[in-house]
Amino acid sequence: QPYLRVEDVHMRYPNDNGGVEALHGVQFDLHPREFVCLLGPSGCGKSTLLRIIAGLLTPTRGEVIFYAPTASRISLVFQDANLMPWRNVRENIALPLILQGVPRSQALQKADAWLDIVGLQGFGEALPRELSGGMAQRVAIARSLIQEPGLLLLDEPFGALDALTREKMASELLRLWQEHRTTVLMVTHSISEAILLSDRVLVLSSRPGRVVLDLAIDLPRPRD
Ligand code: ADP
Ligand code: ADP
Repeated sequence: QPYLRVEDVHMRYPNDNGGVEALHGVQFDLHPREFVCLLGPSGCGKSTLLRIIAGLLTPTRGEVIFYAPTASRISLVFQDANLMPWRNVRENIALPLILQGVPRSQALQKADAWLDIVGLQGFGEALPRELSGGMAQRVAIARSLIQEPGLLLLDEPFGALDALTREKMASELLRLWQEHRTTVLMVTHSISEAILLSDRVLVLSSRPGRVVLDLAIDLPRPRD
């Protein structure tokens, strides 16, 4: 049974001349614990698709069907870490738990554990502006994973990082996924990143956005 099914999803954004068709009949299944990368030219509807899966946008036609009971918790990571500037790192990581009603001390304790997991021990009291881009993105990933999401959606999470940091972050994400095995759908512009990380690569075409390639990547991964 799939984790979720994207079924004949269409999306049209309204504008002055009839609207922009961002997605036109997108269809695929995501399987439990799969790591899928989504590639395609700029403007082909990748972000739109992620937002629809996350429930932030309603498609004009079609639907996203969730099968797994764990599908209730979906976490979305963007290119910008979007940390709360006036909160320190451990508070930023703990926030989703606190908003869920987990007692503050317990949430902060868990955040400390996640600080270690993402290699930021010692930075708990730092403020977001004191972090490098790669560190901030690690905080964003920890803030997502602390919720133990059934589905992790990543929209070019390393897009704003330099090449070296990016490579390090990709291996780190791979290690996290190998240890925590959540279902992942990640938008990337890097084919090498997609091949390193994913079980499967989906390619969207633009005008109108639809899946033109669905490719299983059957390569041994480091540490797999
Ligand atoms: P990608 O993430 O692949 O770059 P997007 O999903 O951001 O693509 O955008 C797909 C298409 O939809 C583009 O033509 C874009 O201009 C258009 N679009 C995206 N968001 C909106 C919006 N809020 N209003 C109108 N058009 C939009
Ligand atoms: P406090 O005054 O208790 O320290 P905060 O500084 O955390 O509150 O929050 C200020 C405002 O921002 C509050 O209204 C809070 O609900 C809101 N807020 C908290 N978390 C988020 C979040 N993740 N995204 C947007 N707004 C938030």
